[in-house]
Amino acid sequence: MTSTQGKVAITDTASVQINSLPIAVYICNTNGYITAYNTAAAKLWGTQPPAGKTKWCGAHRAYSANGLPLMPEQNAAARTMLTGVAVTGDEVIIERPDGTTSYVLHHPVIMYGEGGEITGITNTLIDITAQKQNESKQAMLAAIVQSSDDAIISKTLDGIITSWNQAAEKLFGYTEQEAIGRSIIMVIPYDRLSEEELIIDRVRNNMGVEHFETLRKHKNRTLIPISLTVSPIKDSKGNVIGASKIARDISRQKQAEEQLQHYAKNLEILNSFGKEISEDLDVQGILQKVTDATTQLTGAKFGAFFYNKLNENGEAYMLYTLSGATKEAFEKLGMPRNTAVFKPTFKGEGIIRVNDITKDPRYGNNAPHNGMPTGHLPVVSYMAVPVISKDGTVIGGLLYGHPEAGKFTHEHELLITGVASQAAVSLDNAKLYEEVRMLNAKKDEFIGLASHELKTPVTSINGYLQIIERSLPGNDRNTAFIAKARMQVSKLSSLIADLLDVSKIITGQLPLSHSDFDLGELLAESVEILQQTHISHTLTIEDNGKPLTINADQQRVEQVIINLVSNAVKYSPDASKVNIKLFERDGYAVVAIQDFGIGIDQDDHERIFSRFYRVDNIAAHISGLGIGLYICNEIISRHKGRLWVHSELGQGSTFYFELPLRA
Ligand code: ADP
Repeated sequence: MTSTQGKVAITDTASVQINSLPIAVYICNTNGYITAYNTAAAKLWGTQPPAGKTKWCGAHRAYSANGLPLMPEQNAAARTMLTGVAVTGDEVIIERPDGTTSYVLHHPVIMYGEGGEITGITNTLIDITAQKQNESKQAMLAAIVQSSDDAIISKTLDGIITSWNQAAEKLFGYTEQEAIGRSIIMVIPYDRLSEEELIIDRVRNNMGVEHFETLRKHKNRTLIPISLTVSPIKDSKGNVIGASKIARDISRQKQAEEQLQHYAKNLEILNSFGKEISEDLDVQGILQKVTDATTQLTGAKFGAFFYNKLNENGEAYMLYTLSGATKEAFEKLGMPRNTAVFKPTFKGEGIIRVNDITKDPRYGNNAPHNGMPTGHLPVVSYMAVPVISKDGTVIGGLLYGHPEAGKFTHEHELLITGVASQAAVSLDNAKLYEEVRMLNAKKDEFIGLASHELKTPVTSINGYLQIIERSLPGNDRNTAFIAKARMQVSKLSSLIADLLDVSKIITGQLPLSHSDFDLGELLAESVEILQQTHISHTLTIEDNGKPLTINADQQRVEQVIINLVSNAVKYSPDASKVNIKLFERDGYAVVAIQDFGIGIDQDDHERIFSRFYRVDNIAAHISGLGIGLYICNEIISRHKGRLWVHSELGQGSTFYFELPLRA
């Protein structure tokens, strides 16, 4: 062994071989001084310590595996020399002058001379840095897997579980010991076993499965909704040797989804129902809708609305509507009475919600039934909500029942309270509407009565006037007055006749007597007569002369013509003509009466055909009762025809009516 250029080299044949070894080797003499080292050692240390000057270790610095600095004497070679026993397997961190480090394993061997005396120590350093890094990576990975909230499982291609983390323990209820070595089938519900085959098939073909939502079985046999991601596990050569599964518990997500769907459904019910009841003006209809919707919303088995009224027998709380049960089920048992359970609702004292009414202290206190009468619907869960009008009166109560206990929640209370107040508004409206309808009916009755009562005296006045007229000398001044009086009486008669018609229409008693006639002829005759009394306007008829025969009540059709032409003249005070057209279209005879008067706003086009409606504009100063168009419309519709208007305010109007031509 010689030293060249300050560098220790191993020079004999064995030493040459050692020098070329990829493993670091160095030699210390009995005093611990390094006398030789190979190239690999110098590379590992990052330095070339001069021969005979450095003791035990050639590294710049050394630390124990747990990071504590090591003195040269603590080196495995030194301890071997001291004890005479080789200290192997020491893990040491060595630091190079440039600060980089490596993990090394020491393997010291005592050297003996020919006489058996100790001549020194050969220490072999094995660089285990790569292995260490791998280990720490593995440890990190294992820690991640263990601490994951998702169940992470690995299994062979035969489905045998090879790893099982804490989350898997929690999710499926099996401990790691219980799970490893068993088949994954233990967590798969029977009806989903085919899923596993499909998944394994995909894995074999090097494909994974991502976020597959399915159900798995807990040790306690309950089903857990999970989202599954499965990936193939490959060996170093890339062969698929198993599968890793990540299972995420999605019960909460599913619950949230269900909750959301539940809310959406409730909202939908509330929305459509809210609209329906606000449009409904029929009390019975509103109550049925409210009862049905709320029974559905609460999941109640039975729902009912009881009116806070006495019926003709003097029984309180008349049953109005029912959902989920037949009326007979109640009627057989008689009306619910003024019991401790019922009373608070009808006194408007607030909501009553009881998980088990049969255990409620208020229950069973009232004779004769002392609780639910025999044969009554089996109510255990009970909820009652008063429906209170705007003026504070309790209209009634919504009552719900379910044969199981604890079915109604605070959420239901809130829902039903909302619905109940909405229902109260609709019921108030319906009540008002009912009152208006009643008053309207009274008014109609009055019109019928009044027009009848007026008809007789007016007819006799007309008769007397005729007698007086005849008995007066020819050119007497009074003759003119009588004529005027007769004219006014005739106007009055036609007003009374119109009122009588209205009354007949309302009661469905407007008689029609049909016959065949030519509408053109009737139009010409009527217009000719009208022209005599409406001299302010020129009435013209445009007609191609072709007969248009219809089967209708001639007198009533004439009434329509007179009405429309008179209106055309009446509502065009500044104009001087009215154009009338008759033509045929699609099997109908159509009459158009055009004026150049005040016109009608679009908004009023429908309303002018309703009873007693008069447009609130200059037309209001022109006398009329607002029933002419109503009667015309009725007459035309009764003939399976149609009456309509084209008009713009200030631009004149054209009224059209069409009647089917005789087949
Ligand atoms: P009345 O003429 O007695 O008021 P009608 O039922 O015949 O009753 O007409 C209803 C309303 O329609 C009238 O009050 C008027 O406002 C409007 N109307 C009818 N005909 C015309 C028309 N030709 N031009 C403008 N407005 C009209």
